[in-house]
Amino acid sequence: MAETQVARSQEAGERLRLMAVHAHPDDESSKGAATMARYVAEGVDVLVVTCTGGERGSVLNPKLDRPEIVENIAEIRVAEMARAREILGVRQAWLGFVDSGLPEGDPLPPLPEGCFGLQDPEEAAKPLIKLIREFRPHVMTTYDENGGYPHPDHIMCHKISVAAFDAAGDPDRYPDRGEPWQPLKLYYNTGFNRARVVALHEGMLAEGLESPYQEWLEKWEDREDHADRTTTRVPAGEYFAVRDDALRAHATQVDPDGWWFKVPLEVQQKVWPTDDFQLVRSLVDSPLPEDDLFAGVRERVRA
Ligand SMILES: [Zn+2]
Repeated sequence: MAETQVARSQEAGERLRLMAVHAHPDDESSKGAATMARYVAEGVDVLVVTCTGGERGSVLNPKLDRPEIVENIAEIRVAEMARAREILGVRQAWLGFVDSGLPEGDPLPPLPEGCFGLQDPEEAAKPLIKLIREFRPHVMTTYDENGGYPHPDHIMCHKISVAAFDAAGDPDRYPDRGEPWQPLKLYYNTGFNRARVVALHEGMLAEGLESPYQEWLEKWEDREDHADRTTTRVPAGEYFAVRDDALRAHATQVDPDGWWFKVPLEVQQKVWPTDDFQLVRSLVDSPLPEDDLFAGVRERVRA
């Protein structure tokens, strides 16, 4: 991506800038998308960074699982991402790494040579550091150390995001990757926390509807990380429909009749109208819990 496309706006008065780092095209539409759409509507400059091309993603929409789609999946996912980006109103940059695929089987097969999941995080952070120094985000989001769910690309996305956040402001590190810039806050997406899933489950039952989460909740106790680490709930219910439109733009990756869309928006807006995050690095004062990723940052940028 050319520098001019991500360089910060030069107009009078500094805009707030948010960078959301994701592993695959479609992750931006399923994690924190309504929050991004809300901030875009408020005038924030939002840049989605997509680490891989999603080349090894399966076709998850039965209606599109055809040979000509499978053969051209890389190009199709670029086009899907372009549509989702328009719907969300964000800018987007590719880091250009190759999807690792989700290894399945027992024992698990080795990851394919050269894939994102096998990169050295210190090396793989370089293009992200360059983007941070060009775009100059005030706030960054990524995944937790488990990747949100344990896909090797999600875990590597976490590693390079944290490494880049910690290095981008240091003039002695990666001096060939641009002028230092220190983002002020770093968050993990925590949207799949248990409290939210329970609330949606109970909200569905209260409406006399079938919950898609019964099985999830039964399995939940087996998960290693089920502590709720959310520090920050951003009201974004007004933008859930935009989020769903963006997700549907990734047509090969989501079944329009599947569980993603089983909970009516009215139920979601009633029982859990937020996107959730965990604040993990902060260089500003912002008492927890928060309801704004820019809490403590707005004052700093205006000053
Ligand atoms: Zn993903």
